[in-house]
Amino acid sequence: MLKGFFHVPKAVNEPVKSYAPNSPEKKAVLEAYTKMWNEKIDVPNYIGSEEIRTGNTRNMSAPHDHKHIVGTYHLAEKKHVEQAIANALEAKDAWANLAWEQRAAIFLKAAELIAGPYRARINAATMIAQSKTIYQAEIDASCELIDFLRFNVEFMTQIYNDQPKSDSSVWNRLEYRPLEGFVYAVTPFNFTAIAANLPASAAMMGNVVVWKPSDSQVFSAKIIIDIFKEAGVPDGVINVVFGDAQMVSDTVYASPDFAGIHFTGSTHVFKDIFKHIGNNIHTYKTYPRIVGETGGKDFIVAHPTANVKQVVTGISRGAFEFQGQKCSAASRAYIPQSMWAEAKELLIKDVKSFKMGSPEDFGNFITAVIHEGSFDKLASFIDQAKKDSDAEIIVGGNYDKSKGYFIEPTVIVTTNPKYATMETELFGPVMTIYVYEDAKWAETLKLVDETSPYALTGAIFSGDRYAIAEATEALKNAAGNFYINDKPTGAVVGMQPFGGARASGTNDKAGSPLNLLRWVSPRTIKETFVTAEDYRYPFLGE
Ligand code: NAD
Repeated sequence: MLKGFFHVPKAVNEPVKSYAPNSPEKKAVLEAYTKMWNEKIDVPNYIGSEEIRTGNTRNMSAPHDHKHIVGTYHLAEKKHVEQAIANALEAKDAWANLAWEQRAAIFLKAAELIAGPYRARINAATMIAQSKTIYQAEIDASCELIDFLRFNVEFMTQIYNDQPKSDSSVWNRLEYRPLEGFVYAVTPFNFTAIAANLPASAAMMGNVVVWKPSDSQVFSAKIIIDIFKEAGVPDGVINVVFGDAQMVSDTVYASPDFAGIHFTGSTHVFKDIFKHIGNNIHTYKTYPRIVGETGGKDFIVAHPTANVKQVVTGISRGAFEFQGQKCSAASRAYIPQSMWAEAKELLIKDVKSFKMGSPEDFGNFITAVIHEGSFDKLASFIDQAKKDSDAEIIVGGNYDKSKGYFIEPTVIVTTNPKYATMETELFGPVMTIYVYEDAKWAETLKLVDETSPYALTGAIFSGDRYAIAEATEALKNAAGNFYINDKPTGAVVGMQPFGGARASGTNDKAGSPLNLLRWVSPRTIKETFVTAEDYRYPFLGE
C-alpha cells in the first residue's frame, strides 16, 4: 500500500503569544472566556460513536469562583467502562492497520487546529477549569500541546526509521507494532497538554485507548475531545469515560486485553495502580506497560557565589506560578547564610507585589488552587507552621475560600532541614527555605539529595564552575530534570524531555522518543533470499 517514504513537516516549537494590552489574541481569548463563562455545557462520555449521558451528573465550576457553574458532566457506570473497552477493541484492527502517515496527518491537523481556530477556546477553557493565568494557559494548553503533537509525529518517524543491519543475503526489518490490547490513559488536572498527550501519544503509535480525565479538568478536556474529533480521530480509537477513578480502573484491570497504562498524577495513586496490576498479572494476555509520571519535591540550591536577584526570581517564578501546582514547581530552597538577608528582603518584596484574583484580570499573577481538598490541605500545613517552633512564616500565611480557593503565596523558613514541608509534596503556593552555613556546601548537597523520596526537578544557582560541577555530580539521582542557573519549571518539548525517577515516576520522558517506544512492541522480521537446502555444515567434512 505504501507508495513512498514520506517525510513529515519538521517540528518547530510553537511561539508563545504575548497577550499584551490591545493585542488581537488578548481580545479573542477574553471573548471566548466570557462566552464560555456564560454558557452551560453538558459533557457526555464518548464511547465508540456514541455520546453517553447517564443522568448521574456533577457540576463543573471555576476554582476562582466556585459557586459559578459552567456546566455538568456525566459519570460512567461499570457497564459503560466495559463498553468503552469493547469499542476500543473493535476499532483496533482498522486503526492499527491504517498507514502511519494517515495517523500522522490526523495529529498534525489537531496541532494546527489548536494553533489557529481552537487557540482562544482551549486557553479560555483552561483559564476557567484550572484557574490558569492567560500566560500559563498559553504555554500549556496551546504551545505545549501543539509541541507534543508535532514533535511526537516526528519522533514516531524516527522510531520507524530505526532499522537493524542487513546484508546481501538477509534482509532484517523491525516492525513497530502497537500493543496487543488497549491502553488506559489516566490524566491529572494541572496540564491540559498532558491530558491530551497521554491518550494521543499512545493512539499515534497505533493503539486504541480508554481515557479517564481528572474530575477537575473535564471542562478543558471537552475542547480536546472536540479537536480530536475535528482532526479525524476515528470513533472508538480514544474513548472517554468520566467518574469514580477506582471503579473505572478496577474495570480496566479486570480486562485480559489491558496492555498498558499511561498515567500522570500523584505518587500514592501510581503506587496503588502498580499494586493492582501486580495482583491481576495472571489475567493479562501480555505484560502491561506501566508508565507513570508523578509527584515532586523540587529544589533550588543557591551557592554563595550565585546572583541573589536570579535566585529570588527563580523562587518567585518557580514556586508560585500557577500557584505552585506544577509537578516541577520549586517547593524547597537552600540559601547560604551570607546571602540570606538580601534574599529574604527581595523575596518578601516580590511576593508582596503579586496580585491575586481571577485569571480574567490579566494583572493577576496568582489565582486560586484547584479545589477545596487542596485548599484545606494547604491551610492545615500553614496553620501547623504557625504553631511549630522550628518554622516561621515570613510572608503570606492567609487564605480564604469564600469565593474562590485562594491561598496567599507563603514562604516558610525552617531551622529543621527535615521539616514536614521540606519533605512532603503540598502542590500549592508554599515555599520552604532552609538557610545553611556557607562552609557546609558539600553537606548541603547531601541533604538535598537525601531529604525527599522524589527526584523530579531541581536547580542550582552558582557563579562558580567547580560548584556547578560538584552539584551536578552530587545530585545526579535527585532530579530527572536538572537546571543550572534557571528555575526548575517550564520544560519545553523537544528541548528538555520531562520526567523524574525515584518516587517521581518511571522517567519515560514525555515528549520524546523514549516515551513513544513504550507504546510499541517491535517485531523482528528476518528474510533469507537463498535458503539452505542441506543441514550439513562444512566443518562436518564429507
Ligand atoms: P491525582 O493523583 O489526584 O489524579 C490523577 C488522576 O488519577 C485523575 O484522573 C484521578 O481521577 C485518577 N485517580 C485517582 N485515584 C485513582 C485510583 N485509585 N486509581 C486510578 N486512578 C486514580 O493527581 P492530580 O491532583 O490530578 O495531579 C497532581 C499530581 O500529579 C501531583 O502529585 C503532581 O506532582 C503530579 N504530576 C506529575 C507530573 C509529572 O510529569 N511528573 C505532571 C503533572 C502532574
